Amino acid sequence: MILGSGPQAPLTPTLDAQLASRIRLVCFDVDGVLTDGGVILGDAGGTRVELKRYDIQDGLGIKMLQQAGILIAIITGRESDSVALRAKELAVDEVVQDNQARKVQALRSILQRRGLEWPEVAFVGDDLPDLGVMRLVGLPVCVGNGSSEARRAAKVALQRTGGAGAVREFCELLLRARGEWDAQVERYVASREAEQ
Ligand SMILES: [Mg+2]
Repeated sequence: MILGSGPQAPLTPTLDAQLASRIRLVCFDVDGVLTDGGVILGDAGGTRVELKRYDIQDGLGIKMLQQAGILIAIITGRESDSVALRAKELAVDEVVQDNQARKVQALRSILQRRGLEWPEVAFVGDDLPDLGVMRLVGLPVCVGNGSSEARRAAKVALQRTGGAGAVREFCELLLRARGEWDAQVERYVASREAEQ
């Protein structure tokens, strides 16, 4: 047996502090990023039903970004009521569901409306529909199980996979690079105590 001949563990991603501190908007793809990419399709008395599964720890990571004053957007190329419900639950600032996956156009109009520039945006994606925006934003990020093209387009390749902690991993990575994570966690804990 030759020791050390097995597959290498992926390196822990690092993020430049200056790049991180420029980010004012974080945008997430849905299928394969906020979810594991699976959809459950059903028929409820003649009505088509589409369900997705979200990760609660991812949601709390997004809350930490919001608490730090970072805007949150969701852009998906697949329309569903599930996404609208999750976006409402998380109180995200911008939601675009475009079944033709015109993500560059969608993000450009958000930036114009919000007075933001491409270098101030991080985008977390997983596959080909995300490549256009990943090539434009200041901080393109890919989940651990993203396609090879998405991984190549990313400045940060996460270890966790879509729907299973990748979003939480990125939120913590971004806030740690800005030197804000510990303070935001304490602020969150204090806010929970205050409401009891
Ligand atoms: Mg996707």
